[in-house]
Amino acid sequence: MSSAGSDGVRLAPIGYSPFDMQCPFCASSRTRVVDSRPIEGGSAIRRRRVCHGCRNRFTTYERSVVPLMVRKRDGRFEPFKVEKIQAGFASALADRPVTRKRLEAMIAEVEAVARSHGSQVDSDEIGRAVLTELREVDQVAYLRFASVYKEFQGAQDFEREMAVLEGKGEPAG
Ligand SMILES: [Zn+2]
Repeated sequence: MSSAGSDGVRLAPIGYSPFDMQCPFCASSRTRVVDSRPIEGGSAIRRRRVCHGCRNRFTTYERSVVPLMVRKRDGRFEPFKVEKIQAGFASALADRPVTRKRLEAMIAEVEAVARSHGSQVDSDEIGRAVLTELREVDQVAYLRFASVYKEFQGAQDFEREMAVLEGKGEPAG
């Protein structure tokens, strides 16, 4: 049905490749692109496809996915990983009375804040977003996370954060 060229590129101008998009109407994989055009100033491609199982046509969009990079305090970058946020919440909230649903909502909110910055975000921004969530939910967890995130030096740091929790001060960092 198809053949590979000498350079290894798969040639399939006629027929169906195993990588064809599945039909959203009948789930057949016997579909084919009938039209392809750039949209959104060339940053995306819109394709019209036809299903040879049920004859319906459908549209797909192709866009580049920009990976989110986190700039750490030492200036180095690392790929954003939601697992790191989960781990941060897990250690701060250990043995604290917070439901799984609430936890998942907080993680989703922090991820949304991180991604709202575009293709890169400072680790401090993520830390502040975690603190914002914890502050509303659990003061013990907030202080636990703040003590690590803000590298508390002594008692006055805790006193300052307690003042923040009581609405008498502005968060540092
Ligand atoms: Zn179909």
